[in-house]
Amino acid sequence: MSPTITFVLGDITQQDTDAIVNAANSSLLGGGGVDGAIHRAGGPDILAACRALRASYYGKGLPTGQAVATPAGRLRARWVIHTVGPVFQVSGGDESLLASCYRESLRVADELGARTVAFPAISTGIYRWPVEDAARIAVATVRQTPTDVEEVRFVLFDEKAYETFTSQVG
Ligand code: ADP
Repeated sequence: MSPTITFVLGDITQQDTDAIVNAANSSLLGGGGVDGAIHRAGGPDILAACRALRASYYGKGLPTGQAVATPAGRLRARWVIHTVGPVFQVSGGDESLLASCYRESLRVADELGARTVAFPAISTGIYRWPVEDAARIAVATVRQTPTDVEEVRFVLFDEKAYETFTSQVG
């Protein structure tokens, strides 16, 4: 089945989906943008779980395009799925890495049994992926990925991203 795709202009930390996705960096130890907002709103349990993942599985950091879950602390969601988007300039705009973030996050969501998942516009902030291109890749990848997730909610933080993402569905 393909999930229903919805779009919301708002803050991902406020979403009531089973899981929210974090546009993390490879260190898993927090950063700016949506990553900082998730750690601030969710509290220290998320960082503690990330530190444990670093210590056990990801000593060198989580590779770009992969995803891993932690509990969500004080957030309304049950889980945070951390994925590392590509830096636009470093990746040379290789869209397979950005697509992999969405695909791998949905795979982890299926492992967790999450039925509703909220995504931010991965890589479109500090990592500077052009939002039109990122929106096309995001929506197309979700449409093409087999998953038991029933709703994928794109949570866009500003009007421009919201308009760009919604224009992907005809
Ligand atoms: P990246 O490093 O992957 O580019 P950023 O966090 O810098 O990640 O930005 C990714 C997107 O998340 C940007 O479009 C930014 O506007 C958006 N964003 C920032 N804060 C939030 C939030 N609280 N909820 C949803 N999206 C957010």
